[in-house]
Amino acid sequence: MMDSMIAKVLVSAEEIDELTTRIAAKIDEDYSGRGDKRLVLLGILKGSVVFLGDLMRKLKTPHEIEFMKVSSYGAGTKSTGELKIHLDVTRSDLGDCDIIIVEDIIDSGRTLSHLVRYLKERGAVSVRTCTCLDKPSRREVDFSADYVGREIPDEFVVGYGLDYDEKYRMLPYVGVLAPEAYTGSAE
Ligand code: 5GP
Ligand code: MG
Repeated sequence: MMDSMIAKVLVSAEEIDELTTRIAAKIDEDYSGRGDKRLVLLGILKGSVVFLGDLMRKLKTPHEIEFMKVSSYGAGTKSTGELKIHLDVTRSDLGDCDIIIVEDIIDSGRTLSHLVRYLKERGAVSVRTCTCLDKPSRREVDFSADYVGREIPDEFVVGYGLDYDEKYRMLPYVGVLAPEAYTGSAE
C-alpha cells in the first residue's frame, strides 16, 4: 500500500487546495487587463502536471498550456550550470506570450534560473515562475520564484506529482518517504 510508505505528511490535500486557490487568485489579479497577449502556463514535466491541472481549473484568466522536459547539470565545481532540454516548446509566437513557468519544487534553483533566461532569449514578452514547493535552504544560485505555494525544509518529498523512482506521483498530498521505501523490500 502506497500510504504505508509515507513516514509523515508535510502538506495535506486541504493545504494544497488552499495554496492553489491563493496562487490562482493572485495570478488572476496580476494578469487581468493585458490586452491581447496570450497567457501561457508552461509546465515542467513530469512533476508539475498535478499542480498545473489544479491551477488551470482555479484560474479565471483564459490561458493556454505548453510543456518542457529539462534537466539541469553543473552542481559540481563549475559555477555555471547547463540546461539539457529533452522536450522543447515548438510554437514560434513567444513574442505574443506572457509565460508563467509552473514547477513542482525548487531546490538548487538552477533549473528555473536557466529556463527563465532561455525563454527570454526565445523572445517571450514576459517570464514569471510559479512553484508549488520551495526549499530555500538548498539554493546554489540566487533565485526566487514569483509565486510560491509553500516553503519546506530540506527533506526529499513525494506525492502531488513528485516521484521517487516514478512512484508516488498520484498521492493527493506531499509527504516524506519512510526509510523502507528506499530499500524496495516492502511493497
Ligand atoms: P533545481 O532547483 O535543483 O534545479 O531542481 C529542482 C528539481 O529537482 C525539481 O523539479 C525536482 O525534479 C527535483 N527535486 C528537488 N527536490 C525534490 C524532492 O524533494 N522530491 C522530488 N521528488 N524531486 C525533487
Ligand atoms: Mg522536476
